[in-house]
Amino acid sequence: MISPQDLTASLGISPAGPAAAPLDLDLIRRYSGPAPRYTSYPPATQFHPDVATLDLNARLAEDNTLEAGPLSLYVHLPFCESLCWYCGCNTVITRRHGAADGYLDLLSRELDLTVARMRPGRSVVQLHLGGGTPTFLSPEQLRRLTRLLRARFVFAEDAEISVEVDPRRLSEEHVAALQDLGVNRASLGVQDTDPRVQRAIHRIQPHERNRQAVTWLRAAGVTSINLDLIHGLPLQTTETFARTLDDVLELTPERLSVFSYAHVPWMKPAQRIFEQRDQLPAPEEKLAMFALAHERLTAAGYLDIGLDHFARPTDELAIALADGTLHRNFQGYTTRAGASLYGFGVSSISQTANSYRQNHKTLGAWRDALHTGQLPVERGLWLTPEDQRRRELVMDIMCRRFLDFADLHRRLGVDVADRYRTELDSLSDLQADGIVERDHSGLRVTPRGTPLLRVVASRFDPTFQAAARRHAQAV
Ligand code: SF4
Repeated sequence: MISPQDLTASLGISPAGPAAAPLDLDLIRRYSGPAPRYTSYPPATQFHPDVATLDLNARLAEDNTLEAGPLSLYVHLPFCESLCWYCGCNTVITRRHGAADGYLDLLSRELDLTVARMRPGRSVVQLHLGGGTPTFLSPEQLRRLTRLLRARFVFAEDAEISVEVDPRRLSEEHVAALQDLGVNRASLGVQDTDPRVQRAIHRIQPHERNRQAVTWLRAAGVTSINLDLIHGLPLQTTETFARTLDDVLELTPERLSVFSYAHVPWMKPAQRIFEQRDQLPAPEEKLAMFALAHERLTAAGYLDIGLDHFARPTDELAIALADGTLHRNFQGYTTRAGASLYGFGVSSISQTANSYRQNHKTLGAWRDALHTGQLPVERGLWLTPEDQRRRELVMDIMCRRFLDFADLHRRLGVDVADRYRTELDSLSDLQADGIVERDHSGLRVTPRGTPLLRVVASRFDPTFQAAARRHAQAV
């Protein structure tokens, strides 16, 4: 049986604070390769476009009236003034700030259509504004958004209200408007503080702007600040990235995310310029940057939460990891497990106990659906009981780093060791390499295996395994 003490030890947490296992780069190289990030299971790549056939809207309407638990809301605000060339987000590039007024009109319709199908009185425990650039909206537009949301939902007293902030587009007036909304967490896009890298990615952001944004937000009562970095950007080296790490550590954020740059020029054509200019670091250099970040951040007292996330041991995220209540959704790791996620705005994703649905990804299609009084759903998935069971296994690996067979038997009503014998046996290579440990009571990801959480989880994902086999045969 895996005891809580074992779990705490496996997470590298001691009463004195985190003691991180160093990264095993050979192991990471050996197992590196595409694997879903499991912000959902099944992953969003498995969503079906045949909304009408799935009868998603009707079934969701029924689902919505049945569910009664707490709510997590996500609002996607897609506008940005200029395109950062590395960007992989769903954005609308414009300098016409009036465009946000029309967008808020449509959001208001979408909120009405959704709320009309929901059981009343559900309390909002989490709200996240993402983008794009939420502070593309003027302070007055942000206040209008606050009114739209507060008029339709009841917020829990201790609701977590977070916003993605672009320090280049933040004024003190914005911060005051965010304070009115009740924002208590902010995530700032820093990416890299080196001026040459910033020119190469078309994102000029003097570090003074980051400092100023943190000062304003803290003064406004924001108690948790996350800073986003990206490694693998053009012209980055371990030396330049070391200086970026020094810069961000000086701001003493509660959390840090160190994302890997995803080079997908066939989907994001602006990224081609990095190839044309031959500016991308080699894979080895990119890995060295992540190793450096891991070493520096853990030495500075941050705990490796998993994938790209680091948090101070006193932060809610680190506490949730230690007590086994960490949760994962489309925004990454989060602490509010058990809430249904409702996404609003272009491309946003919603999640209930039985389903996923994603809104149209283009502004035009999203607007057209709303004009005709339809929920603007483009694709989705209705989970089978088997999907739901596998979701539990995948999320336990991603968030708790272990499978406790007795606990899973209570939750799922199946003998996991027996029912998923093939998947468990397929882990023998990971076991031999010390990535996982297994006994009759369960499976545990070891500290050295933590960077490979998604590789372990993917062994329980039949669609990914089938695709990997097809790929291997093709090679
Ligand atoms: S500000 Fe953010 S969302 Fe907008 S283009 Fe830059 S990276 Fe993309």
